[in-house]
Amino acid sequence: MLVIGLTGGIGSGKTAVSDRFARLGVPIIDTDLLARELVEPGQPALADIVAEFGPDCLDSEGRLHRACLRERVFADPAGRRRLEAILHPRIRALARERIVGGTAPYCLLVIPLLAETGMTDLVDRVLVVDAPEAEQVRRVMARDGVAEEQAHRILAAQASRRQRLALADEIVENAGDLAALDHQVATLHRHYLPGCCPDPTDGHLTATAAPW
Ligand code: ATP
Repeated sequence: MLVIGLTGGIGSGKTAVSDRFARLGVPIIDTDLLARELVEPGQPALADIVAEFGPDCLDSEGRLHRACLRERVFADPAGRRRLEAILHPRIRALARERIVGGTAPYCLLVIPLLAETGMTDLVDRVLVVDAPEAEQVRRVMARDGVAEEQAHRILAAQASRRQRLALADEIVENAGDLAALDHQVATLHRHYLPGCCPDPTDGHLTATAAPW
């Protein structure tokens, strides 16, 4: 199965894009959801996190207190690396398992931090959802109710737009309205299906070559 790695900065529109692929019947494997599965109570990763960060990172029901852990590692690069050492190998293994079990012509593997984690070896092609930073900030403020300064802080902690675009085989430009995504996703779907050729006249596709 061809694996398309979908990435983009916070609020760029990854979910809006993956929802549209899902509506076309494309299987979506979301590494954020895999990470959640892996820290469910009883999972070895949760035990490792508690051993590493202490029982304070659990809530009163014994579930991972995500916001608390996130806050702790945000300003602590060494702590973040320890958390990644617990989670990333398990996310990779579970993603591979799901990919191998798939029967569709291609799937979307959503990896928000693709540029930061170097998980590019899991994917055949990289699809970047790109939006102007001011737009990302506006969307995150509207969706999450965070202050502008906080939204800028999150953006600054992520890979830059340029770093992400450097990895792109294809790009979805999400600077317009949501309806503008439909056409781009439909074009990409044709592009990724076996036997189809990229349409070089379509301004939304920046593919240099088809994978077959
Ligand atoms: P995150 O990294 O935080 O998970 P994301 O990249 O998945 O974010 P979305 O959740 O798809 O981004 O979009 C962020 C918010 O912006 C959502 O509320 C979404 O509905 C809205 N949004 C996305 N694209 C557009 C658009 N083109 N026009 C208007 N609103 C949009």
